[in-house]
Amino acid sequence: MKRSGVTHVEVSPQTLENLGKRAGSPLTSAGADQIVETPGEGKRATTDTTTAELANIETRAKSCVLCRELSRCRHSVVFGVGNPHAELMFIGEAPGADEDAQGEPFVGRAGQLLTKIIQAMGCRREDVYISNVLKCRPPQNRTPLPDEVTNCLPYLLSQIELIQPKVIVALGATAVRSLLDVQLGITKMRGHWYTFHDIPIMPTFHPAYLLRNPPAKREVWEDMKAVLEKLGRKPPPEKRQQS
Ligand code: URA
Repeated sequence: MKRSGVTHVEVSPQTLENLGKRAGSPLTSAGADQIVETPGEGKRATTDTTTAELANIETRAKSCVLCRELSRCRHSVVFGVGNPHAELMFIGEAPGADEDAQGEPFVGRAGQLLTKIIQAMGCRREDVYISNVLKCRPPQNRTPLPDEVTNCLPYLLSQIELIQPKVIVALGATAVRSLLDVQLGITKMRGHWYTFHDIPIMPTFHPAYLLRNPPAKREVWEDMKAVLEKLGRKPPPEKRQQS
């Protein structure tokens, strides 16, 4: 990064403390597994290359100012969350107010619904990887502008390339249109498989749409069952209603 002209990186107080503990040891991993201290426990754990590369890209995204308006308005760059080795990746549109405040994608009302969908599939939020096309919140949650998508897409492409999920779920029209060169509406595309760089991708309705239109949850569940089948997994048995 230094060689490419980067002069500053953002680090958390915890990272600074950990770096201090590691004084005298080489900090460059050059592709090999990194040894890191587990905060608080003093135990040794390995951070693999994917995790380290994702952290590098996140650091770059955090100082990105390509979109003037978004970088001026943001409180956080909302990079992504979850398992760097996830088989399943969910991609939304852009952070909203809650995500901008907390620095994590899909934590507001729509996010809580996404978490429920993930759990209904028999997964935990931390098993999958969740990200957005844009890493910064558009003012008033407006739809991302084409230039903003162009500026931000390389971060998402790097995430996909590093994580190499077996299946991608594209949540809503912005995610679908940003990844696929198809001009159909989400209603026509959902439920059908497409391919992005050899990775099967399932377009489905955005959870925010489900909040406005709850009957569409039925279609999303059909789509998620197709996703589970593609992953060679079965949906968990339906919970019986308590009498
Ligand atoms: N909507 C999105 O598309 N992404 C989020 O992170 C939150 C809401």
